[in-house]
Amino acid sequence: MRDKLLGAAAARPLLVVAALTVVLLLIVLSGATRNLPLDLLIRSYSAPEEGPQNCSLASPMEPAKDKLIGGLLSPGFDEPSCLSRYQSAQFWKSSNHTPSPYLLQKLRSYEALHKRCGPHTDLYNKSIDQLRSNRSTGPLECNYVVWLQSGGLGNRLISLISTFLYAILNNRVLLLSVPDDLHDMFCEPFPGTSWALPSDFPIKKLETQDFYGRSPQSYGNLLKNKVISNGMDATHASLPAYLYLHLTHDADDSDKMFYCEDAQPLFRSFPWLFLRSNQYFTPSLFLMSQYNDELQKLFPEKETVFHHLSRYLLHPANSVWGYVTRYYEAYLANAKERVGIQVRIFPNAPVKFELMLDQVINCTLKEKILPDIKVEVAANLTTTGGGVKPKAVLVTSLQTGYFEKLRNMYYEHSSITGDAIGVYQPSHEERQRTENQNHNTKALAEMYLLSFSDVLVTSAFSTFGYVAQGLGGLRPWIVLRPDNQNPPCRQALSMEPCFHFAPAYDCKAGRNIDKGTVVPHVKHCEDLDFHWGLKLFD
Ligand code: GDP
Repeated sequence: MRDKLLGAAAARPLLVVAALTVVLLLIVLSGATRNLPLDLLIRSYSAPEEGPQNCSLASPMEPAKDKLIGGLLSPGFDEPSCLSRYQSAQFWKSSNHTPSPYLLQKLRSYEALHKRCGPHTDLYNKSIDQLRSNRSTGPLECNYVVWLQSGGLGNRLISLISTFLYAILNNRVLLLSVPDDLHDMFCEPFPGTSWALPSDFPIKKLETQDFYGRSPQSYGNLLKNKVISNGMDATHASLPAYLYLHLTHDADDSDKMFYCEDAQPLFRSFPWLFLRSNQYFTPSLFLMSQYNDELQKLFPEKETVFHHLSRYLLHPANSVWGYVTRYYEAYLANAKERVGIQVRIFPNAPVKFELMLDQVINCTLKEKILPDIKVEVAANLTTTGGGVKPKAVLVTSLQTGYFEKLRNMYYEHSSITGDAIGVYQPSHEERQRTENQNHNTKALAEMYLLSFSDVLVTSAFSTFGYVAQGLGGLRPWIVLRPDNQNPPCRQALSMEPCFHFAPAYDCKAGRNIDKGTVVPHVKHCEDLDFHWGLKLFD
């Protein structure tokens, strides 16, 4: 459109340029488009009905709508080194969730802390000396929580966000033990420093049994063996130099004592915590009264925790961003509406293809996400003669069958609304291969592409879908497993991820309780037959 406009101007230079200048001047003077660059003005003049999601990505320097996302992002970065940080906002559906001023302030002070304590600073070196000394000395000026990976990309990212929140709440610096298969996939989120554990970090065995559930150094085992107890003074010289927190889905009862309020002061005494989780354990932080005030100020809107923190923290590196933008431009940019459908079949809980397909189709038709089809072929076809924008359906799945069936459905039949429906699938990797970086690149690209949807349909229990919904600020339609006489889907009441394996143990009462009834904003998730999953709601 822009090229066409400029082409016409070149043919009849004076007249058209003058007319255009007058129109633009009027628009500028009206104040309605303050801060828009010329390029955007031309486009909004020529095609005002096109939303910001249709902005071309041709120029990386082209400012997007509120590219710092309401002040969430620090301006202290070199833009071309991480295009996604500045361009993502153009693609997301407008969000009416603004980060609280307190969260913005907290992020800026966290960035300062991270810069002061980041790898190879004097204070970091001091903390490393303590680690090498093999003894606990109590808290130092710089204290750390080191994130260790577990599970697929979705699991990793939800646990990373929870760990970052834990770091913020405890004035700890978040460092990542970056697995080889995630190498260079994300931009650095904190200006002037790094979040990656440096290669000269003295502990090399972070991916051995020493940092899994059986580790004698794990908090759970130290507790079981009575080396430590919640509430004790950890400056005791015989205590270890660090604690390993095993918070994956298979954490045992002792590991889960982490979620007891009276454990928290003990952790503060350790400058180094190593935390492995594949869970979104954020809801449990909201059940600890010592964090109440801070969390209330940070997130007056509870369902925005993952939304804001993921947009703050997770910026695909340029190499991944290329996948996202190439695909978007080629298949999605021109659509009048984008529907994302994520179909996840868990190998250890398989579902028959036909049943899941029915579930997806029944959901999208029943909820009017996609139009039904005309079963009979019309004798006299009416066409619009082109020019009508299609609805684009982005299917993501490890398999290709769901995409093929949906695509054929709208190829072989017309829709009752007359809409043209384009169905696309970026990849079908057949099986999960988290150890492969190229595979993970596609997974991240697809999470991002899904997050650009206007309407999102996800699969119950999938953390892959949680990341997409959180980034996009979307309450998805959750397709339920076809058993148990479930309805085909149900709409999420909150865009937060679910903490699947939340502890039921109430430390004060000394017994299991229903944690979904303790405070109004922590309730059971919508997508599970499990009744122990917890999630934040407003
Ligand atoms: P979850 O198992 O659904 O909770 O999600 P995870 O992301 O933790 O693990 C599943 C992994 O399988 C992903 O990270 C990908 O590696 C792969 N995978 C599953 N579904 C898709 C998909 O739709 N597209 C791509 N590219 N990969 C997928």
